[in-house]
Amino acid sequence: MTAHLIDGKSFAATLRDRITAEVAALADRGITPGLAVVLVGEDPASQVYVRSKGRQTREVGMNSYEHRLPAETTEADLLALIARLNTDPAVNGILVQLPLPGHMNEAAIINAIDPAKDVDGFHILNAGRLATGQKAMVPCTPLGCLMLLRDRLGSLSGRHAVVIGRSNIVGKPMAQLLLRDSATVTIAHSRTRDLPVLCRQADILIAAVGRPHFIKGDWIKPGATIIDVGINRSDDGLVGDVDFAAARNVAAAITPVPGGVGPMTIACLLANTLTATARANGLPDPEGLTP
Ligand code: NDP
Repeated sequence: MTAHLIDGKSFAATLRDRITAEVAALADRGITPGLAVVLVGEDPASQVYVRSKGRQTREVGMNSYEHRLPAETTEADLLALIARLNTDPAVNGILVQLPLPGHMNEAAIINAIDPAKDVDGFHILNAGRLATGQKAMVPCTPLGCLMLLRDRLGSLSGRHAVVIGRSNIVGKPMAQLLLRDSATVTIAHSRTRDLPVLCRQADILIAAVGRPHFIKGDWIKPGATIIDVGINRSDDGLVGDVDFAAARNVAAAITPVPGGVGPMTIACLLANTLTATARANGLPDPEGLTP
């Protein structure tokens, strides 16, 4: 069996086209969504992400506001900026690029963002709302994975999903979203025993570990759907957490790296900004962009 390639790049492009059309419809009402991205320091990967986010925001017709602050910025100054953005009516979404410099309390910064503008979905209130089945802003990467899974499989009800990784930004919200879709969910992490045995039971396998080619071909249940969230730099360029060449012969469908989950993350950031704008203006949520 050669697995079907889940083309996140093309799915994300279609999503952006849809968002562009919705943004144009909002413009007829005199509304332009605005996304503020805050970058503290000079982390090279973060700079690439922020540039890419700004470009894609403008491409769909939204306003992009970039705030680049020096690494030695104090927490108080960053909190003051967030307070200003919280009350700025032109700003519908606020994203503080992580990681922050070591002298800052990341949780305090994230929790200072107005939850209604928290387009990353990392605020404790949004995490709680997601966990309790309420209307939330949902973290972009897991939201993108969910869209790909629903598109590929239709209903996820009753399927066994194994999520490897329990971070607050990927693993945990991914598990919540799968549970919300009535999958049977197992969360694995570095202390999990017999991981290969567990993986072999997975109808849906989500890898969010951050180790190149960590998941081997013989860990995969024949016919499974594999979502590889990992982005690892190696001598062969960017590779995922799954041994793609081996997995491809066993799985029914798999996301490539690059070109799978990665492009969905920024597309979902734009989707969340659109949703936040609709909510701020008392309009219904745009269809299909929220779980
Ligand atoms: P974290 O480092 O925060 O979490 C990694 C998780 O993997 C932890 O829960 C850890 O367990 C678990 N883990 C580590 N080693 C093992 C092991 N040997 N067996 C089982 N589990 C293990 O990473 P993130 O969640 O932030 O990101 C994961 C990957 O996804 C990274 O490669 C990252 O670059 C990528 N990523 C990609 C995005 C995209 O847009 N495609 C967006 C965000 C992330 P424990 O908790 O016990 O330590």
